[in-house]
Amino acid sequence: MPRLIPYGKQSLDREDIRSVEKVLKTDWITQGPTIEKFEQAIAKYCDARYAVAVSSGTAALHLACLAAGLKSGDKAITTPITFLATANAVCYCQAEPVFVDVDEATANIDVSKINAKLDPSVKAILPVHFAGLPCDMKKIHRIASARKLTVIEDAAQALGAKYQFEGRWVRVGSCRHSDMTVLSFHPVKTITSGEGGVITTNSEVYYEKLRSLRTHGIVKDKKAKEIGPWYYEMRELGFNYRITDFQSALGCSQLSKITGFLNKRQQIAKQYMKAFQGMDAVTLLEGDAEKYGSANHLFVLKIDFKKLKTTRKEFMVRLLKDGIGSQVHYIPVHTQPFYRKQFGTNWGDCPIAESYYERCLSIPLYPAMTNSDVKRVIKGIQHLGGNS
Ligand SMILES: *Cc1c(COP(=O)(O)O)cnc(C)c1O
Repeated sequence: MPRLIPYGKQSLDREDIRSVEKVLKTDWITQGPTIEKFEQAIAKYCDARYAVAVSSGTAALHLACLAAGLKSGDKAITTPITFLATANAVCYCQAEPVFVDVDEATANIDVSKINAKLDPSVKAILPVHFAGLPCDMKKIHRIASARKLTVIEDAAQALGAKYQFEGRWVRVGSCRHSDMTVLSFHPVKTITSGEGGVITTNSEVYYEKLRSLRTHGIVKDKKAKEIGPWYYEMRELGFNYRITDFQSALGCSQLSKITGFLNKRQQIAKQYMKAFQGMDAVTLLEGDAEKYGSANHLFVLKIDFKKLKTTRKEFMVRLLKDGIGSQVHYIPVHTQPFYRKQFGTNWGDCPIAESYYERCLSIPLYPAMTNSDVKRVIKGIQHLGGNS
């Protein structure tokens, strides 16, 4: 079998390794000064006032939901086309996720369908910038403001994405239209710290709350310090969701290279678009970076497998024989056994998401792909797709 091209992969170089090594040689390998450096760098890049770094994107989602005050009896709107962690974070707070169907062209939440799902128990909206393409945040903000709902952007796939705001581009993570934005540094994402995540916000109240929840709910403020240097108070139940100093060093080093990563992703996506646009059995998701500011996290093909007289399973196996990895993003979350059992959701609830799921296939897209890798993927797909 030819060398495998996976669907996604990190890009680490000697500089990254050296930056981690440097921190490992200091006395601060867990809670040192590099965490704050990383937080400041992320906040600056996204143009947000604050950033709180934590142990994963999932932990970041959990803390954001807690900081928003989600609790038993509350509901939160989200999308079925996401990684499980988005909806799971709502469940961690004993609240209930409500799934709104997606838009056919983008696979992002269909904003026009949110209003119909609103009732007084809905307290938050968690839009997901699927595949790196920003949702319509202006409209989501308008819906949320009218009812005082908290907006938490799941931008795990969208670090580096941008959208138009008052006639100019602003970065996802700047929280122009949200209360908090969650990012992930899992190895397949725009940049990596191994495991890791961040919440950005412009609110000092959320910022302080997130910092306390990250470390057991402990507060060491001025009032506590007056009692003595040993003294701290636990005012609410928190967690150990801390990131380490050496992970933050990797994050800083990776962030310094983000422009190159994004450009490379965009360049590959463009080649794919050109190659696959004319194929009979293939439809592409809207995701043009120049037009829509996508971070090009995934490249998804919507394939009419019946037209090709094949199944997705067979298609994937045959790609793999050519050394081409592929993946399905995602099985609609509301169809998972846990959600069906817990909340009575089922197949049929979100028909657009479900028909999208039948056809979707993500093909390799990451900055370390060589030109010949890209050509090999294009040839492989064109061959299987009936155009060669
Ligand atoms: C990756 C991802 C997460 C979870 O991030 P982790 O860092 O792996 O915990 C959450 N939501 C979405 C949309 C993701 O892609």
